Amino acid sequence: MARLKGKVAAVTGGTLGIGKAAVERMLEEGAAVGILDVLDKEGEALATALSNKGYPVAYWHCDVSDETQVKSAIDGVAERFGKLDVLVNNAGIAGPNKPTHELTEDEWDLVQAVNVKGVFFCTKHAIPHMKKAGSGSLINLSSIYGLVSAPDIPPYHASKGAVRLMTKTDALLYAPDRIRANSIHPGFIWTPLVEHHLQSTADPEAARQATATLHPLGHMGEPDDIAWGVVYLASDESKFVTGSELVIDGGYTAR
Ligand code: NAP
Repeated sequence: MARLKGKVAAVTGGTLGIGKAAVERMLEEGAAVGILDVLDKEGEALATALSNKGYPVAYWHCDVSDETQVKSAIDGVAERFGKLDVLVNNAGIAGPNKPTHELTEDEWDLVQAVNVKGVFFCTKHAIPHMKKAGSGSLINLSSIYGLVSAPDIPPYHASKGAVRLMTKTDALLYAPDRIRANSIHPGFIWTPLVEHHLQSTADPEAARQATATLHPLGHMGEPDDIAWGVVYLASDESKFVTGSELVIDGGYTAR
């Protein structure tokens, strides 16, 4: 299993959920991986556990909405492992579950700062390393809610729509540098983000069951369902794939 042999990747929000699964599957496929997150205790523990198994991995504190921290962490990964080939822009937050007319400016801005500006900062500081390496793969976690919407969490849906088009712009801008950019659009995946979101509803267990049935396959996905998509887009198997939308949603958007 060496689909990513010789590649170096950075994964934002790599401590939990989809990011953690992406880190683990990429390591198993031969990549060296930098985990970037704000959950320092959990991130350090994950990096130590994986490192003890012999994998080339390390943790960096990095709030993706802070450009200084982003530059320092991305440069740190490239310095530690010799280059940077792959950036997984995974860190994201759901934000408050309120209708548009009840949202404050601060609540709106926080979601955009992490989900949109974070992708901008990380991409901005990864590109020089990828240009130096002669190629690269940018993998941006959008959502089914970058393709369709739902009557809840307005700042989140706006942010994921933005990520979808930022990806296409960067695909066009950096194609001459052999840097590819693709978005992934997961359906509901059982992670702490979804768990907390469903807990914000009146009846979380009913909401969980109702959410599962929104997917024609009849259930929510698991983090590995998305991580394998990340491995594909990080690998040379996808060398002719750029500006594309990889939908992994149990059929949610096929209706
Ligand atoms: P998660 O379980 O909440 O994990 C996200 C990780 O990112 C957490 O460790 C989180 O830390 C971290 N993070 C939050 N803000 C950060 C920041 N400013 N800088 C760096 N790290 C930060 O989320 P997930 O469900 O795995 O989702 C991962 C990505 O997939 C997100 O972009 C999400 O929008 C997208 N997605 C998820 C689903 C789904 O159903 N799960 C569906 C579609 C798209 P904290 O715990 O402290 O916040």
